[in-house]
Amino acid sequence: MQLKGVAAAPGLAIGPCLVLEDIIHPDLTQKTIDSQDIQAEQDKVKNALDKAGKQLELIRDRAVADGQEEQSAVMEAHLMMLADPILNDGFLKAIENDLLPAVGAVQIGIEKQAAVFEALEDAYFRERAQDIRDIGRRVVNLLLGIQEPDVSNLPNPLILVARDITPSMMASVDAKNLLGIAAEIGGRTSHTAILANNLAIPAVLGCQGVVQSAHGLDEDEQIAVDGSTGIVHVGITVSQAEKLRQEIRRREEIHHELEQIKDTPTRTMDGVTVQLAANVMGPDDLDRIQAVGAEGVGLYRTEFLFMDRSQAPDEEEQYKAYRKIVEGMAGKPVIIRTMDIGGDKGVEYLNLEQEENPFLGYRALRICLDRPDLFLTQLKAILRAGVHGRVLIMFPMVSSLEELRAAKIFVDQAKEELRTADVPFAEDVPTGIMIEIPSAALIADLLIKEADFFSIGSNDLTQYTIAVDRMNAKIGQLYTSFHPAMLRLIKQVIDPTIEAGGDKFIGMCGEMAGDPKATMLLLGLGLQEFSVGPAGLLRIKKIIQGVTMDEAKLVANHAISMETAGDVEEYLADAIPEDLKKYLL
Ligand code: PEP
Ligand code: MG
Repeated sequence: MQLKGVAAAPGLAIGPCLVLEDIIHPDLTQKTIDSQDIQAEQDKVKNALDKAGKQLELIRDRAVADGQEEQSAVMEAHLMMLADPILNDGFLKAIENDLLPAVGAVQIGIEKQAAVFEALEDAYFRERAQDIRDIGRRVVNLLLGIQEPDVSNLPNPLILVARDITPSMMASVDAKNLLGIAAEIGGRTSHTAILANNLAIPAVLGCQGVVQSAHGLDEDEQIAVDGSTGIVHVGITVSQAEKLRQEIRRREEIHHELEQIKDTPTRTMDGVTVQLAANVMGPDDLDRIQAVGAEGVGLYRTEFLFMDRSQAPDEEEQYKAYRKIVEGMAGKPVIIRTMDIGGDKGVEYLNLEQEENPFLGYRALRICLDRPDLFLTQLKAILRAGVHGRVLIMFPMVSSLEELRAAKIFVDQAKEELRTADVPFAEDVPTGIMIEIPSAALIADLLIKEADFFSIGSNDLTQYTIAVDRMNAKIGQLYTSFHPAMLRLIKQVIDPTIEAGGDKFIGMCGEMAGDPKATMLLLGLGLQEFSVGPAGLLRIKKIIQGVTMDEAKLVANHAISMETAGDVEEYLADAIPEDLKKYLL
């Protein structure tokens, strides 16, 4: 039987499975207590919170000892949520005012907080609901005297299946015996997914029915998790198992083959070189991008430094994070994007208001221009990091020339402040913009006169151009970057940049740059820099190395004359030379 979920961490694993029993808590949200028991129930909550904190500290400390930075960071975030005074006061008040028992008070408080997260537009923040429920489950287990499922010592190599594989489980799991995971809850940006990626463990999340199907298996039946396609095969037959093993071998061969080209130049067969950079979320990604020979960082999403915390990072903390990446890249260019938060990505301490249309609202550069305190702090940290290598500053969500001009004035002011304070910084830092709003694409010829470079944000450019919310699963099938309008806009951005010449350059850092189907098209249109997630970087290099510029131009010219997204995509997949088609997956 095949089930489809979210492809949350790439790779294909096959093996026996361990189904974790779901611990069902009694619902005590309707129960009441006598008023003389208030104090005792409140003490129980305080005690359980205390113990939960100690458990989380233990998991964090183990992760630190094992050098697992991402795991320890997630546990640190859980500790912060657990210590939130508003949440804790809420538990105690619910006992006192509503006469709820300890368990009921925690259940209600946690669900309230989870609902706040779930109401947010941004998938990353919505999935923080899973984190808060993970914490709540731990506290309720302690209150009810239920043992936490222990996954820190798995008996043999296996695939873990559960309704919910929580971030705290992933932070404490016995990774050497974990082949893969499949769960009914969770999405691509859940902490479970992030940790699975970090541990290089194939994961399929949001896979409904997987627990029940896995429950029905005989002892000797196996399960396969394909974290690249989102498919879980349950109860596979001997012949299916053999086929899947062949597929694993095939992917391993491709992986091995691709590893061989990691230090070779990204150059077409007829000698045209392009820049192949990687997208990062923070210093933890350095190892991964170095392992694939990234030629730079084409997009550093700095907003992640501002999330999951109670106040904005100060200049020093930001400087240290940026410096780590800049030094790690040893002179290769690092494009640091100023924070892209707000509206949909509500950061609590910024107290942003709920908006009708957050994607069209107060976000990214719009916040920065309105909050000099935040913007100048970040710009100064970036300029200081520039002393340690090659840094470029990039502004997100630029829609007009006025915004670019205003942002550049802030850069000058940040430099002036550093100069006055006698703090070393890089004077010569190019400033560029993301082209992710159609208005910016349409005036690219004007913008390029005042920007040093462009990077096309195809993710947002697609959603704004074809009016399809990139987060809305219901209309997910409408979301495509191969729409003829997108092709025309991309060309309209590339042409004037090339014409401007000099040191100006045009890149792309949206997902489209990492889609092998788009490689010949983008190359043929003249894209000079591709910035992609590390997992898919070498496939793009292989395709660039396997084609000529003339071939790519022919393909691009033909694709741009086509009438529908479906036709474009089909044509592009077909146009890839036969020997390179295997890199499409
Ligand atoms: C984009 O919009 O294409 C982009 C790279 O930015 P983000 O995905 O962070 O919005
Ligand atoms: Mg964007």
